[in-house]
Amino acid sequence: MAYSEWPSVPKAKLGPWGAQSPLLGPAADFQDVLRKFAVNTMRPLGTALDKLTAEEVVAKSSKFWEFWGEFRKLGITVDALMALPPDEAGVLFAVLFEEFGYGDSGLAISVGASTLPKYIAARMGRMDLAAKIPDDQIGCWPITEPDHGSDTLDPTAAICHPTGNYGRPNCIAKITDGKVIVRGQKSAWVSNGPVADWGIVYCSADTKAGPDPRGGVCVIVPMNSPGVSRGKPLEKMGQRALPQGEVFFDNVELDISYVLAEPKDYAKAVYMIHTEANSLMGAIFAGLARAAYDHAYEYAHERRQGGVPIIRHQSVATRIFHMFRKVEMATAMARRVISYNFQAPLPALQCGMSTKVTSTATAFEVASEALQIFGGNGMTREYPMEKLLRDARASMIEDGCNEVLAIKGGTYLMDESKLAEPSNKQAAQ
Ligand SMILES: Cc1cc2nc3c(=O)[nH]c(=O)nc-3n(C[C@H](O)[C@H](O)[C@H](O)COP(=O)(O)OP(=O)(O)OC[C@H]3O[C@@H](n4cnc5c(N)ncnc54)[C@H](O)[C@@H]3O)c2cc1C
Repeated sequence: MAYSEWPSVPKAKLGPWGAQSPLLGPAADFQDVLRKFAVNTMRPLGTALDKLTAEEVVAKSSKFWEFWGEFRKLGITVDALMALPPDEAGVLFAVLFEEFGYGDSGLAISVGASTLPKYIAARMGRMDLAAKIPDDQIGCWPITEPDHGSDTLDPTAAICHPTGNYGRPNCIAKITDGKVIVRGQKSAWVSNGPVADWGIVYCSADTKAGPDPRGGVCVIVPMNSPGVSRGKPLEKMGQRALPQGEVFFDNVELDISYVLAEPKDYAKAVYMIHTEANSLMGAIFAGLARAAYDHAYEYAHERRQGGVPIIRHQSVATRIFHMFRKVEMATAMARRVISYNFQAPLPALQCGMSTKVTSTATAFEVASEALQIFGGNGMTREYPMEKLLRDARASMIEDGCNEVLAIKGGTYLMDESKLAEPSNKQAAQ
């Protein structure tokens, strides 16, 4: 609109996605479809699953399977994503997971974790392994262990305490005579653990020197292999639509072709999946933050106090404004990071961490503010806010506690060539 046509008192009206630039390629057509799926399918199913026990969520008759049936009808596959040019794939990936986070973050994480075995195998160029994994089967990423949480995400030991003793790993893989043998257990937090058909398992290597908590092996495990078993689905506070649980490996023996990374490449393999997973979290929780904002925005227009809609009270309008700007910031960062990492020759883990920390902290802050705007109604299960707050709270621990990501992220921002130590200067030359 030309300036001359502006109204004399201008006020721009934003659409459902705020200050969004025009989208690229398939994402442009797909965003509306995804929004409808998020609101009409994911949200009611996620809300119903939230009220069930963890055992009921994974039962054969559960709406969890109805969700997966509906998701498959969208035709979103790893192969389709990989076939797109990187600039379009980056935008589609971000929009897809934002919308899924807008619908239900637990189900969104279930989809994200599910894609990891096939997607990471493909990103590592192991199309032979990726081809073994059908698109209609569910994947998981077992990495953390009962005795090892934050430290498993850091094979470079950047976060480790200098006097720490990180002890024995709980899960070990041995490569021998053309085979890999996995033994031990992974934590109760494995997303999709109770239901997965495939796992991308990250564990320590049993080298000649004994189990090595720093080096490791990354192996694709068909979860119906002899020796794989699972614990009870975990009862937890948020993201209750997402089944989680322990996975046990009793000397699970696979051909060596199932190994995606041997010890020498383990740090590289963790870097790859951590960058992807943190970026995914960035998009999903930017979506949750927008959902919380939208609920509060609508409520603030409907709810009246003192004869006026509460948004007319300046404190409420101010809070809505701060929520709005935080959601815009988290969304912009998620899209920027994901687009960058899809196109960069070497994706930047520090950027993945930045979007994960920003979006999850934003989701929690915005959900908390939104609950406050709902007043007492925010506390009840009749309204969506208490669930969104619980879902958002889990995200600050998931995929690496935010404070640990910040420590590690800081080390990734260091430029050794600028540091004073003579040995570093020499190494950089
Ligand atoms: C919803 C959800 C989904 C998850 N999905 C998966 C999954 O799919 N697969 C999987 O394997 N795991 C998964 N996890 C596990 C998750 O990755 C871990 O919970 C997380 O990495 C933290 O590990 P921890 O719980 O053992 O905590 P700890 O590592 O025991 O940390 C406890 C506290 O100590 C602090 N701390 C620990 N070490 C340091 C340090 N060096 N410096 C400063 N502070 C430190 C932490 O910040 C934290 O506050 C999931 C968790 C959640 C909540």
